[in-house]
Amino acid sequence: SHAATNAASMTVPAVPFGEKNPLLLNFNENSLGMSANARRAIVESLPNAFRYPDAAREALVEQIAAHYSLTPEHISLGNGSSETIQAAVQMLVANAQKKQQPVQLIVPDPTFNYAELYAQPLGVNIVKVPLKADLSFDLAAMQAIADNFAGHSIIYICNPNNPTAMITPASDLAAWVEKAPLQQNFIIDEAYAEFVSDPEFKSAVEWVSAGKSNIIVTRTFSKIFALAGLRVGYGIAVPEVTEQINNFNSIDNTNIAGAVAASASINDTSFIDYSRKSTDVSREIVIAALTELNLAYAPSQANFIFHQVNGDVKTYQQRMKENHIMVGREFPPVIGKSRLTLGTPEEMLQFVAVLKQFRLKGWI
Ligand code: PLP
Repeated sequence: SHAATNAASMTVPAVPFGEKNPLLLNFNENSLGMSANARRAIVESLPNAFRYPDAAREALVEQIAAHYSLTPEHISLGNGSSETIQAAVQMLVANAQKKQQPVQLIVPDPTFNYAELYAQPLGVNIVKVPLKADLSFDLAAMQAIADNFAGHSIIYICNPNNPTAMITPASDLAAWVEKAPLQQNFIIDEAYAEFVSDPEFKSAVEWVSAGKSNIIVTRTFSKIFALAGLRVGYGIAVPEVTEQINNFNSIDNTNIAGAVAASASINDTSFIDYSRKSTDVSREIVIAALTELNLAYAPSQANFIFHQVNGDVKTYQQRMKENHIMVGREFPPVIGKSRLTLGTPEEMLQFVAVLKQFRLKGWI
């Protein structure tokens, strides 16, 4: 059922975890699993899965376009949004090289590192700008680095950010993005946007809709739609840019199962609400425990939370592993904090019980 769960009814673990089935709270997946509609669509697609996925891809692209009131020419599918990030970086680097212009990648630090990982082998200089003390992006410093560079800058903005789960308010971004010259290109990664409730967040898709050509937005079916293993993500950009991104995508990159599951999910508002509410309940369970234990945390707007651990984070991670709970890790240069994925409410109650034992042992 898609009924929202509440914490009080979740005191009995549904599946006991242990050595053979640890709690996986480390990769920001959606522990609810995919929707019934997605599962059914996959099963129904199997008899035709010996064909190439053109029709399923086309149908999905049309649905995504309609979802944003854009055209199919605005949408590029990726084998996960990872491929879209890869293709976008490669395309922007190639364009700078064609003009014989130097190119740099500017990233906040810490952030999701795939733009960096794909830029590195291309020989791109990577400029990492530490987060401010409150863990927000230092947009002024990032902008100054771009403005003072005689060449092209690729600026990666993850909103909400991973690992902090914090949003960057639209008004803060607008001050830079709306005036940025065309040699400053933004990749705005909105992998977790569907979890956000803070009204200060606004999707950068609005800028694409308004025709801005130096913005590529990436989105994914891996997170709120719980399809991470099926690898479906997409980019949203003006048609001229989307066409160039597609030049760097693997042809036929979306498999039939993933495409039909994504199609069955994108407008499944009851599953989206269920996922969001379940995550909200999980977040409240964790925040209540962190508050009780006096452990600080960043304001989470996604399906994970970045929280303080007293003592060495690697030791904490290892001890959790010994208790069959895989938690996320520390993200230098921020130290003393651990990223924790918000699984189901049942899973978080199990996590909290272990966390409280750790406090009794003086470990956290
Ligand atoms: N972007 C962010 C911020 C992520 O955290 C992740 C996965 O963890 C991805 C993109 C990649 O997701 P996928 O390739 O599954 O769409």
